[in-house]
Amino acid sequence: MRTAANVHPSDDWIRDFKGTTYSFDAFLQRITAFHGYPAPGLVIGGKMVDLALNAMPPDCLFDAIAESGHCLPDAIQILTPCTAGNAWLKVLDLGRFALALYDKHRGNGVRVFLDPGKVAVWKEIDSWFFKRKPKAEQDNEALLREIRQAGEKILQVCTIRVHPGLMVKDSVGTRALCPRCGESYPLKHGASCRACQGESPYTTV
Ligand code: ZN
Repeated sequence: MRTAANVHPSDDWIRDFKGTTYSFDAFLQRITAFHGYPAPGLVIGGKMVDLALNAMPPDCLFDAIAESGHCLPDAIQILTPCTAGNAWLKVLDLGRFALALYDKHRGNGVRVFLDPGKVAVWKEIDSWFFKRKPKAEQDNEALLREIRQAGEKILQVCTIRVHPGLMVKDSVGTRALCPRCGESYPLKHGASCRACQGESPYTTV
């Protein structure tokens, strides 16, 4: 398989879907601007997206799945056109450090995950990934150095096919006014809106 290391000159850490390349330091800055701080998981996540992009056929219209709500959704949003807001990115709470890109019409694609078997030789990454020491004791600079050095060596790529049910466009359908709160909601949710069925995350004060 064509891999990022084969494609990029050594100074380029990753490339986005348009082909724009980032050096390691430039990507740290981009992450900080988007995410608030240079999270190690997002640095690795960037490499994961880069690998997935390289493994996809050119000119493929793809959607994305993040298997964790931490870091990976932002790596996808920074480097691809898939966002939570345009619904080309699905964030699943599976708790696995993995992401997938797939052909939005045919469902075939690639999944990239951090391979626990490959992490053991990287002391700082291993300690961070398995949360072996408190965050305060973590040597962030050493960790980032290792992530840069390890690159794709800690990752694994496999091919996948997305379940057809996930690819069906979820249409809103008829809307109605909720008899309890009076706001508009999709009628298919039931006799009242989901918030009034008990799913509201807050009470109005
Ligand atoms: Zn309601």
